[in-house]
Amino acid sequence: MLPFQLAEIVNQGKLVSDEIIINLLSRRLEEGEEKGELGFILDGFPRTMRQAEILEGVTNIDLVINLKLREEALVARCLGRRMCSQCGENFNVASIDIEGENGGAPMYLPPLLPPPQCESKLITRADDTEEVVKNRLRVYHDLTEPVEGFYKARQKLLEFNIPGGISESWRKLLEALNIEDSDNMRSAAA
Ligand SMILES: [Zn+2]
Repeated sequence: MLPFQLAEIVNQGKLVSDEIIINLLSRRLEEGEEKGELGFILDGFPRTMRQAEILEGVTNIDLVINLKLREEALVARCLGRRMCSQCGENFNVASIDIEGENGGAPMYLPPLLPPPQCESKLITRADDTEEVVKNRLRVYHDLTEPVEGFYKARQKLLEFNIPGGISESWRKLLEALNIEDSDNMRSAAA
């Protein structure tokens, strides 16, 4: 498949076919193994039961982390995405401030604003419209719910509710994983 065909599928809010993903993935995992890589993180994969089943035959997965964000925050965040057309950096202009519901904690996600030199060069991805984003979420939920069950039954699923901005979420995620943040430790020691 040619790159422009991939872009076309993604722009319509559809997902790329299993065959393409599995081919790319097994090739990449083989290369990693040859280079002596000790492990890997798959981001956003598997999304479907079929992919999860194929993946079981390709490699051994230790843990699946389900990152969860409330839908209103998710949509606002997707619509706030911007990219600098000159340097390619990604930013987010959406500032999310949601009051806690039913005794839940409030959520504040600060925007990720560009430096002055990028401000006038920001572009929005063609597939970041509300209609496409909402359709993508519907497709996502329909396909991934069984996948969550698949890994839950195998006791490999960690559900993680994103509590706020990146630094807060990162700290809490490391806590949940029982991992120390070596970068923070180093800078704290310096
Ligand atoms: Zn820039």
